[in-house]
Amino acid sequence: MSIEVKVPDNEKENIDNKNKTKSEKYDKNSISKNSENITSSSSINESKDEESVEFENNFKKYYVDPSQNTPLNFDNYVQYGLKLISYFPNENDFEKQIKEKQICLSKEKNFDINKKTLVVDMDETLIHGDVDFQFKYHDEILKFNFGNENDILIPLILRPHLFEFLDYASENFNLIVFTASDKNYANSILNFIEKKKKYFIKRLFRDSCVYLNPGISIKDLRIFSDVTLNNIILVDNSIFAFANQLSNGVLISSFYNDINDCMLENLIDYLGILLNVKDVREINEQSFQFETYLLNIKKSCKLSIK
Ligand SMILES: [Mg+2]
Repeated sequence: MSIEVKVPDNEKENIDNKNKTKSEKYDKNSISKNSENITSSSSINESKDEESVEFENNFKKYYVDPSQNTPLNFDNYVQYGLKLISYFPNENDFEKQIKEKQICLSKEKNFDINKKTLVVDMDETLIHGDVDFQFKYHDEILKFNFGNENDILIPLILRPHLFEFLDYASENFNLIVFTASDKNYANSILNFIEKKKKYFIKRLFRDSCVYLNPGISIKDLRIFSDVTLNNIILVDNSIFAFANQLSNGVLISSFYNDINDCMLENLIDYLGILLNVKDVREINEQSFQFETYLLNIKKSCKLSIK
């Protein structure tokens, strides 16, 4: 799972983010799938000061949709992601939202205080919901309903080694699934995954994310009131998901339909290393160096201003 990342030295203006509109399209159709950390800004404070306008400009310049996080483009995706994160506000600015979303995991029936907590994303991390019917082969076609509309089909593609991964993760960690997707959509998929066996001690949805204009959703791990940050890991295919705690994050490439994908199998090996360490952040930082690169980006920005 180790990756090599170079700090971007030049600001490349021409980012290929042609797929950026994928989740927007879902919102237009009122499916509101919002699979990848970008959401309608309607629930977010619309007032625009100078800072937010500046951030929106940087967003346009550097945002790359996680659909671009493919194995071949992984380093590039990380570079642009970290560049945009370098413009994020201080993590203390999210305190109000975090206070409103507090979750006490020790109340959960199957929470084990002796285990670390592993939070995993759903869309393009565990499965791909092929709602556009882009691919021919699907493991299952699920139906779900938003209430006022006709049934919507979710052609589901499971990431290879999914159940092997879930068996391992649920046995060794307090396993939580945390998706930025709509609750009804996600529950349809999670009910299917957990049809034979319960893996997750808790399911979290879009409403547990914190938000940053113009619509980036972040899975801030400080919402877990009784878990310390040295003991919690977030696996996600979007780097923005763990923007506020970069060294807790394990970035996995986006899955669509590659039957030879072995990322979940590799992840089992990597998680084995984290099982008994005092602080998962130290090992993650040694492996991925996200915080280090972010610091270097910030330093190089200061130098260029001088
Ligand atoms: Mg995802």
